[in-house]
Amino acid sequence: MEKIKSLEMRGVTRRFGNATALHSFNLNMEGGMFVSLLGPSGCGKSTALNCLAGLLDLSEGEILLNGKPIQHLPAEKRGFGMVFQSYALFPHLNVARNVAYGMEIRGVPKSEREKRTQKALDLVHLNEFGKRFPAQLSGGQQQRLAIARTIVLEPALLLLDEPLSNLDTKLRNEMRVEIKRLHEELNLTTLYVTHDQSEAMSMSDIVLVMRLGRVEQLGTPQDIYNNPRSLYVADFMGYVNKIPVEIAGREGNEWLVQLPGQTGPALRARTTLKEANWKTGDPVLACSRPDETLVDPLPPYNHLQGTIQLVEYMGKSFEGLVKLNGSDQQVMTHSQQPLENGQAVEFGIRPDRLLLFPQDDSAELTPPPTDSLAARPVLKVQEV
Ligand code: ATP
Repeated sequence: MEKIKSLEMRGVTRRFGNATALHSFNLNMEGGMFVSLLGPSGCGKSTALNCLAGLLDLSEGEILLNGKPIQHLPAEKRGFGMVFQSYALFPHLNVARNVAYGMEIRGVPKSEREKRTQKALDLVHLNEFGKRFPAQLSGGQQQRLAIARTIVLEPALLLLDEPLSNLDTKLRNEMRVEIKRLHEELNLTTLYVTHDQSEAMSMSDIVLVMRLGRVEQLGTPQDIYNNPRSLYVADFMGYVNKIPVEIAGREGNEWLVQLPGQTGPALRARTTLKEANWKTGDPVLACSRPDETLVDPLPPYNHLQGTIQLVEYMGKSFEGLVKLNGSDQQVMTHSQQPLENGQAVEFGIRPDRLLLFPQDDSAELTPPPTDSLAARPVLKVQEV
């Protein structure tokens, strides 16, 4: 199997009839990298992965492995391994035979098959389960078996399409660690498709956030988390507080903004947009993450006041939905100390963590915080 030094998808477009699922998609990977495609359902993640795997023909563009075009090669000649959301295990073969089957077909001698099967089962911690059948395994064990069956063939590239979406939260967290460990132990070049930002953020070297068949932003998890370059990406990264404000001025890199119809000290914020030509009075959205919108400890900047509408206990801390004074706007806040319904609170946001975006982003966004706390996405980016 040719080792990957570089893998490139260049201008890859895929149409289904009149609809374009992938628009001139570019991806550049070096050997050993872990890259994730992140985005909501229907944004083209699986289409990109299937084009790379050879399961879909390209409408336009090319795929270069170590500089050589491979788009004409059928899937089985590319040397890539794929793990799907549905594990697609052979129910009538036991665990060891499931792992060995691909090698049997490829004519790998029996003694080598047995050695590699054992090693793959060791890697995914299933060595005691060789004689069981898939139906006798838990979901997480089946998932690990699906991975063992793929990596035993020593693929040049491991492609994973939402492999954890059938698992419960605890197993998902365990499997994330397993996948990352395998990636590091075997130095596997890995492309991972997910709609779960915490999965992508915790495992990847590079994340591509996709929107409507295009790459909206590409970067390290930290960069995308700290500097989302559009409202769409910010929304995906958990900036659920979107406060309509008006531009009141600018001081260096900081913008001054004011809640509409209110006087008092302006809020200080920044923008990640390359060009922002806002004028005084222009309406924009000031966006923050709840865990950076703090009641306690109260940061010494950007203070706003309001009343707690709802409280959610988070284990070590509390989240409180605050209705701003003199406005219908609701903002999700965070506190180390207990909060109570009806409590008057003051909270603050660091200027560099309050990001400004234009109001007219047509993406489907998470609705602003409402009284339904349960509808909020769960955010775990701090695991990065
Ligand atoms: P999900 O997370 O739901 O799997 P995705 O981001 O992987 O979504 P794709 O499966 O790549 O999205 O689909 C991208 C777009 O292409 C969607 O609008 C989808 O309806 C469309 N599409 C995908 N496969 C086909 C097909 N075989 N025929 C027609 N349209 C398709």
